[in-house]
Amino acid sequence: MSNRRNFIKTSALATVAVALNSFTSKEEESTSTFGKQKAEQNGTKPIVISTWNFGVKANGAAWEILKNNGRALDAVEAGVKIPEGDPAERSVGYGGRPDRDGRVTLDACIMDEFSNIGSVACLEHIKHPIAVARAVMEKTPHVMLVGDGALQFALSQGFKKENLLVEASEKEWKEWLKTSQYKPIANIENHDTIGMIALDSFGNLSGACTTSGMAYKMHGRVGDSPIIGAGLYVDNEIGAATATGHGEEVIRIAGCHLVVELMRQGKSPQKACEEAVSRIVKLTQNRNKNLKDIQVGFIALNKKGEYGAYCVQSGFNFAVNDTNGNTLVDADYFLK
Ligand code: ASP
Repeated sequence: MSNRRNFIKTSALATVAVALNSFTSKEEESTSTFGKQKAEQNGTKPIVISTWNFGVKANGAAWEILKNNGRALDAVEAGVKIPEGDPAERSVGYGGRPDRDGRVTLDACIMDEFSNIGSVACLEHIKHPIAVARAVMEKTPHVMLVGDGALQFALSQGFKKENLLVEASEKEWKEWLKTSQYKPIANIENHDTIGMIALDSFGNLSGACTTSGMAYKMHGRVGDSPIIGAGLYVDNEIGAATATGHGEEVIRIAGCHLVVELMRQGKSPQKACEEAVSRIVKLTQNRNKNLKDIQVGFIALNKKGEYGAYCVQSGFNFAVNDTNGNTLVDADYFLK
């Protein structure tokens, strides 16, 4: 009896496994043609938006994929890899500013249209943390790996160990050591993140978010950027959002999940970003903190391809690439 039960269980599992396998391979096989047909049928126009001025170049790489009916997931990964790989961009990936111990520790996460998620935090020595986050999503039963475990996993996947601390960052850090005063400056000076969200011609949404976090942070500090729901959230029925700025404040309100939920309730992407910022404003005031010391910016995109952005104070911009071109836009802000 128990043997029979086991057999039934095993064969049921085998059937599920076969069904899952055939689903995956069929899906992979038909993705491109299905996508093209669907694009023609529903007329979805692709769009990608991303944070800060490095978003313009990053959007360019994402757009190459989107305009050829590629998947939003591939587009956002390729897009954010541009600043990650650029040593001149000092707040993301290779060339990112170190923590107070002189170590470059990177955070990243990714989310696709099926709500698959992957994330790495406090990852050292790997130039493209977003690709490791995607590998966590696709090749492990987990959603988040941190520190040494994330590095070990990356190496096992063939990622190369590199020194990410560029000369300019090392010099600045040594200068900083003279005072060792931790004071993140609002806007681009000593932090920033590329968050990118895209809608493809299938009508599907994905997002990616990657950063070296706050310069001269305590070793082990993790901000919002690798935390699904804080620095990034995607709901393929509703929309997507990503954030930049003081991660502690974004985590406090589960920022990007909030923005998406507000869109679910019927708010436009613009109004949803405004409402999320107003929560941060309120909590900052309640806690008797100075709003002038805080910058947080949200960008959001809905299923219809409408987008919005809002931040605490002036200085935040974002890049939008659609069929009309690739432009940098100054976000509206609360503190006037
Ligand atoms: N949100 C990032 C963090 O807190 C930094 C930034 O976007 O400026 O790590």
